[in-house]
Amino acid sequence: MTQNHSNFKRLTNETAITLAKKLGLVNADASLKCNEIGDGNLNYVFHITDTVTNKGLIIKQAVPYAKVLGESWPLTLKRAAIEANALIHFRSYCPEFVPQVYYSDEQLAITVMEDLSHLKIVRTGLIDGDSYPLLSQHIGEYVAKTAFYTSDYHLEPSSKKEVARHFTNPELCKITEVFIFTDPFFEELPGDFEVELKDAAQKIWNDQEVILEVAKLKQSFETEQEALLHGDLHTGSIFASKTETKVIDPEFAFYGPVGFDLGQYTANLLFQAVTRNGAGKEEIFTLLHEFWNVFEETYTKLWEVQNKSPFRHVKGYLPYLLTKFKKDAFGFAGCELIRRTIGLSHVADLNVIGDKETRIAAKTATLEIGTFLIKKREELDVPAVIEALKQRT
Ligand code: ADP
Ligand code: MG
Ligand code: MG
Ligand code: MG
Repeated sequence: MTQNHSNFKRLTNETAITLAKKLGLVNADASLKCNEIGDGNLNYVFHITDTVTNKGLIIKQAVPYAKVLGESWPLTLKRAAIEANALIHFRSYCPEFVPQVYYSDEQLAITVMEDLSHLKIVRTGLIDGDSYPLLSQHIGEYVAKTAFYTSDYHLEPSSKKEVARHFTNPELCKITEVFIFTDPFFEELPGDFEVELKDAAQKIWNDQEVILEVAKLKQSFETEQEALLHGDLHTGSIFASKTETKVIDPEFAFYGPVGFDLGQYTANLLFQAVTRNGAGKEEIFTLLHEFWNVFEETYTKLWEVQNKSPFRHVKGYLPYLLTKFKKDAFGFAGCELIRRTIGLSHVADLNVIGDKETRIAAKTATLEIGTFLIKKREELDVPAVIEALKQRT
């Protein structure tokens, strides 16, 4: 898709401050400082602070290409509007788990939002060994509410399709289709892995059963429109403390299969479960159990109270749906485990392991568990996933 970028201008620290003042979001005479703090791959994040009151403000700006993929991978600026719009939608269903958007501008590709610097990115926190006792309860509730309230069970099917139109996100979906569902599964397509993993990777490329299941999962990602997804729900998209949780960065939002958000969060907990031992490992197992329990409980409650479909009382329908979400989720989680290990975008959870032998063992385990999840997803539950992980780590 071609796009007119003529009104686009990259912000600098200075123009970000000028903009915040112009919008009246900071005092015109305040003493302000601004830093670009983006650690992501696709965007810039400006953090403006009042040096007297310490109050902050965030301006996120998309640029017309992926920062890491280079100018050769052009990316629509529309993703900024999708992100702002998704934050507003999700916040309307779960205000406690989504930052407030103060302003957005489609031409400048910016979202001005609540400063969450008092919280820590969960991936970093988990790697540091921090505990998040409420994290999975919050994310379970977040996924259940966003999945239910944006679905045909809550919206009229015709208005759901209307909402979905505002969230057609072909270019960002393509990133997922290529980097999660395609490249990692073919030897001849781009990849990035340590040579010691070649045999384990070869095993996946040669396994026609895995490749067939990945084809089915990719098809489901491309064709199903169950709910408005976050689309990038890994632990790097979550800010938290012991008591608070906020989900950021929904630029990949689109109407897709509910299992995709469930699966990404699940897989990113599994990276931690693989790398940890003893009580730390058990803590992650608890987070996995709590996530799935709270998701299912919350979704069930919403179904019973708010579902207007004449089919809502049909015996077996809700269990059918919850089982479908779970099967999909374990399959998607398997793809995420594999792509983060041999695909182009890795996770710090594995890469921070300094000792090479330990690191290769952890990565071999994520490849094996990923394969297992993809192949066995129809018959798995959380205890079986945990058991499979224990056997391989
Ligand atoms: P990307 O899409 O490029 O991954 P993110 O939205 O994930 O961008 O933001 C990148 C980083 O910027 C985050 O990891 C975090 O450190 C910082 N950041 C983003 N949003 C906020 C916010 N609302 N408050 C504080 N820091 C933020
Ligand atoms: Mg991000
Ligand atoms: Mg490849
Ligand atoms: Mg992002």
